[in-house]
Amino acid sequence: MTDRGTVLLVEDERSIAELVTLYLTRDGFRVVERRTAAEALAALEAHRPALVILDVGLPDLDGFEVCRRIRATSPVPVIMLTARDEEVDRVRGLELGADDYVTKPFSPAELAARVRAVLRRAAGLGPPEHIDVGRLHLDLAARTARAGEAPVELTAREFDLCAFLAARAGRALSRAQILDGVWGANWYGDARTVDVHVAQLRRKLGDAVRITTVRGVGYRLEAPAPRPGD
Ligand code: CA
Repeated sequence: MTDRGTVLLVEDERSIAELVTLYLTRDGFRVVERRTAAEALAALEAHRPALVILDVGLPDLDGFEVCRRIRATSPVPVIMLTARDEEVDRVRGLELGADDYVTKPFSPAELAARVRAVLRRAAGLGPPEHIDVGRLHLDLAARTARAGEAPVELTAREFDLCAFLAARAGRALSRAQILDGVWGANWYGDARTVDVHVAQLRRKLGDAVRITTVRGVGYRLEAPAPRPGD
């Protein structure tokens, strides 16, 4: 597995830290875990991480204050974690220079996807090569799909449809939009083509994602509800 660099994870809740570390390690990151602000600021010097994941509720200092101190000396990307989802907190975090903001409870897979996205933005590498929604992972360069760890065999059209829906996860898309986006505006087919392919996708993807029928419109792909412990 490629070495993607070091992530400094500052989280005093052991169960969350363990889960996040598990996912990031699987993704090829080295993870340095710290439980207090003081330890985190020392580790920033010592380990020069590629990215910091910073819990807002720490035993010694508020995570916002830690973010401010990091920003005073370093451009390292920061993702803030918080149990609070108040808009004011989000704004405060972003004003203090945080790059992204994830509200608990979150799925570790989603956090891992945010980590990759923030690093990609930081590196200025352009369009995404991966899409992750729920337990669905698409590698757009290799044109491969996985449901969790299991590879999923998709036809070319199924892959295009899956990528089209996943890139717009959470949005209701009409059959006409889907036909235009996947089959092309010049394709003369009927909307049933979409239904048939969506049925195939549902069968192949299992519970990795949900593809919901939106009555009178079309379809919406979304992450399944998080399971307990996620
Ligand atoms: Ca905490």
